[in-house]
Formats: sequence, structure tokens, C-alpha cells
Amino acid sequence: MAETLNVASIAIVGGGTAGWMTAAALSHHFKNQPVDITVVESSKLGTVGVGEATIPTLRRFYQKLGFSDLQVLKASAGTCKLGIEFRDWYKPDTSFIHPFGLFGQGTKEVPFHHYWLRAKANGGAAPLEQFSLGVQLASQNKFKLPIDKPTSQLEIYDWALHFDAALFAHLMREFSISNGVKLIDNEIVEVKTDSEKRQISSLIFSDGTYLQTDLYIDCSGFHSLLLAGALEVGYEDWSQWLVCNSAFAVQSELVGPPPSRTIATARSAGWQWTIPLQHRQGNGHVYADSFTDDETARNTLVSNIKGKLLHDPRHFRFTPGRRSHAWKGNCVAIGLSAGFLEPLESTSIALVETAIDKLLMTFRQPKYHKEDVQRFNQVTAMEYERVRDFIILHYKANQRSGAMWEYCRNMALPELLQDKLNRYLRNGEIVTYPWEIFGRDSWLAIFNGFAIYPQNYHPRADNMPMDYLQKHLAFMQSQVSQWVADSPSHNDFLKTHCQYTG
Ligand SMILES: Cc1cc2nc3c(=O)[nH]c(=O)nc-3n(C[C@H](O)[C@H](O)[C@H](O)COP(=O)(O)OP(=O)(O)OC[C@H]3O[C@@H](n4cnc5c(N)ncnc54)[C@H](O)[C@@H]3O)c2cc1C
Repeated sequence: MAETLNVASIAIVGGGTAGWMTAAALSHHFKNQPVDITVVESSKLGTVGVGEATIPTLRRFYQKLGFSDLQVLKASAGTCKLGIEFRDWYKPDTSFIHPFGLFGQGTKEVPFHHYWLRAKANGGAAPLEQFSLGVQLASQNKFKLPIDKPTSQLEIYDWALHFDAALFAHLMREFSISNGVKLIDNEIVEVKTDSEKRQISSLIFSDGTYLQTDLYIDCSGFHSLLLAGALEVGYEDWSQWLVCNSAFAVQSELVGPPPSRTIATARSAGWQWTIPLQHRQGNGHVYADSFTDDETARNTLVSNIKGKLLHDPRHFRFTPGRRSHAWKGNCVAIGLSAGFLEPLESTSIALVETAIDKLLMTFRQPKYHKEDVQRFNQVTAMEYERVRDFIILHYKANQRSGAMWEYCRNMALPELLQDKLNRYLRNGEIVTYPWEIFGRDSWLAIFNGFAIYPQNYHPRADNMPMDYLQKHLAFMQSQVSQWVADSPSHNDFLKTHCQYTG
């Protein structure tokens, strides 16, 4: 590869969520530069059609393009997501929420959870969840927009969207086309490369026409037509830690007002999602096919949905893991073509965003260097591994019965995750690493939700007199309760500000 490569033309292969988000971001980025962008999609092949729960980074993504939250909620039949409720994960009949927000008010020196642990060890403390505005709003199906300038950590929470994937892709598509992106609706039947399979040379379509560009972005979904298919980039399989490799998904009619959280309910060989939208509900059962069969998995899903089904359940098979390189030669993979872990923490679209962010950083000018490719690959690998470890903890920490859950409880952990767990258990320290999508309070929510408590808290938490600490804990609890009482229901919020009208 030459030292610097100019990019005057880009082909984005795939018109799913990943393809159109990439097209929207690149067309916005190169608005005033002569870069020709073409999206290739095949309406005959369609898209994966799932992927409707997000994390708050999605909002930053579309805000940079000029969209407002209310605009996107309305256009995508979206609802507000304050976090995920995990039902029956720790044990049957338990539940906890992982919020996009903080727990309590700490001091400069000592994070809040150490004070809470101290109170818990000395006479007791209210459950940790009662110090999280995000958890309390979510558990009571309330929603209001966070205030711009919070006066304390107690008021800090964030939110994401549940959206109709087809409507969101449509929004991104319209935006891209209005920015000059060209669209080819045709099936690629051959991807030509150089003799050593280091570079893509051209894309050949079913009618014999072809497309040749400087850079190819592979958003072709699970089969990774360009990076894996043509350039033969391998795959790191993480099935030893992430045992779920299949899913059934189906949409149903809503029964009752949409909650302001995703619900993830543990099942005997996997878990079931409930994603509320304004016009329907998304449901899916993610399962390990080595611990159950497809028929049982399908029945489990269908028998646990209250509303009328809107179509037959669709089946998916995947291998949890990532491509060993996301970028090779003149081809970058984004979306399912770069890897897929599983949907538990709604991170797949977030990894699309981080990939796009890295591309935009690389292309300050429409050119790139060999080092940019290396850097992109290194950071991508870390991002996937950090998310992988976060998801693994949900399985490892369970106290359920059943073969799959027992396997997960006994599995050996990746080194960094084991170290993180050990350090938390020893002294309540929550280690965070660069390129981690989930911060300290997210880890705390999972540790606490699975009743993982450290042996010691921070010694400086002892510097606060106990009666002063108890008084403050009580004050925080009452503040949170008051704010929740003053907030509208999620349903009222949607109806007032962003009702989907079809
Ligand atoms: C069961 C399940 C649940 C999920 N839940 C979530 C979730 O809650 N949150 C989340 O963030 N993510 C989730 N995901 C992941 C999410 O669906 C994807 O990250 C997202 O939809 C992006 O997919 P994509 O665009 O990479 O691929 P796809 O949607 O598969 O798009 C591939 C595109 O490539 C085109 N294409 C393929 N081959 C050719 C060809 N030969 N010629 C021309 N065009 C071609 C197709 O037509 C299509 O347009 C889930 C995934 C699964 C499987």
C-alpha cells in the first residue's frame, strides 16, 4: 500500500441500518468536498430487519447530522429507553435495571457506591436502585428529558431510543440522498480483487454492469460479502463465552402503554427481549442451540407474548465474535459484516457508530495512510472486546439452575474481565479501560443486580460521620422520589411531544 491514498469515490455495500447510517455520516462529513458516494443495496435480498433497541450514543450520532430527538422519535415510531430491566437473570423472581445514568452523589475523592456499601455494612441502607433517578423513572414507566445543567450527580441520567429499524433506515436514506448520495438497487454477483486478495478492484452486478471506487465499505450484513467473502479475512469466534447463537424474532400488537425500558427476561436456554414501539412491540428469543432445539425456542417465544402476532417468527443464526481485521486494503467492514456479539446490551448499532466515528477521524481529508488502517483495527478490536466482557458478566454472575446457566457460571473468564471482577470484589474498585462503551455506573448496576458485593469499601468513606452519611442518604432518596413524582408518564410524554402518525 502506498503511504497516502486519496479517496475520491466510495461504495457502501448494503442498505441496512449500518449502510445508511454510514452514508448519512460520510455525506454530511464530505459535504463540501468532491467525494462521490454510492450505496449499493438489493431490495431482492432485503435487510436483517431487527435491531430496534439502542444506547444513548445513537442520539449523539443523529444530533451531529442536525436531527432533534423529537424529530427522530416521531419519524421512527420510537419510544424512550432509560435502561434495560433484567428479569430472572440473577435468580428466578428477581429483577434489576441497568440505567443510562448515575447512582447517588459521591464526593470528589470517593464514588457514591463506597458510601452506600459502608452504610449497608453498618446498620443498613436502602437498595442502591433508590438512588438512581434513571432506574426510578424507568421502573415507574415515567419519562422526562434530562435537565441541561444538573446541579448534582443525582439528577444525571441519559436515555436512548427504541425505534422501528426500517423507519430509521428510511430517515438516514432520505438524508443521504438529499446530500447527493447515489443509490444502486442491484445484486452484486461477483467481487473482483487483485491477485493477492489485498484490494477490491470492482463490484459486478447481476445485469453485467460494474462499479469501481477508491474505497469500499462493507455493510453487507452477516455474510460480509467483501471483507470475508472476497478478501478472506478470518473471524474470531467467542462462542466459549457467549453461548447464545440463535434467535427467533416477531412483532406483536401492543398491549398497554409502552414502558420506558427494554425488558430482557431470562429463559431456560437464553433470554427474551421486549422492545416497545409506538405502533407495535418487538419480541425475540435469543438462545443457545447447544442447550435447546429450534422448535422449543420458537414455542418459548410465542407462548410468552401477550399481544397478537403480526407475522410468523423469523429465525436467525449467528456466530458471536468479530472479524480479525475490520479494515483490509481498500475495504472497511461496518455493522454485522464486522462482527456480532449478541443483542443483550443493544450494542451492535453503537458499534456501527463508533466505527463511523473512527472513519470520520481518519478522513479529516479524503485520504488515508497505512497507519490509519492499523489504528482503526486496533481500536475496533478493543471496542468489541470491552463490550464482549460486559455482556459475559451477565451470564457468568447468574445463580439460576439449568444446563446453560450452569455452564456460564462455571466458565473461565477472559483475563481482563477476571481482573476487573477480582478488583471489584477486593475493594469495590471499578476499573475502566479506554474504548469502553459502558462506564463505571453501568458496571456497578450489573454487579449490584447480581448481588456481587466487594469485601471492602474505600477506606476514605469512613471519614464521613455515620449520622451525616445516613442523613444524606435519606435526603438523596427523597429527592429522587420527588423528581419521579413530578415527572409525566412515558406515554403522556410521547403523545404530547412526538406521536407517530404513520
Ligand atoms: C436477533 C438480532 C437482534 C438484534 N437486536 C439488536 C438490538 O436490539 N440493538 C442493536 O443495536 N442491534 C441489534 N442487532 C443487530 C442489528 O440488527 C444490526 O447491527 C443492524 O441492523 C445493522 O445491520 P447491517 O446493516 O450490518 O446488515 P443488514 O441489515 O443485513 O444489511 C445488509 C445489506 O446488504 C445488502 N446486501 C447483502 N448482500 C448483497 C449483495 N450481494 N448485493 C447487494 N446488496 C447486498 C442487503 O440487501 C442489505 O441491504 C440484532 C441482530 C440480530 C440478529
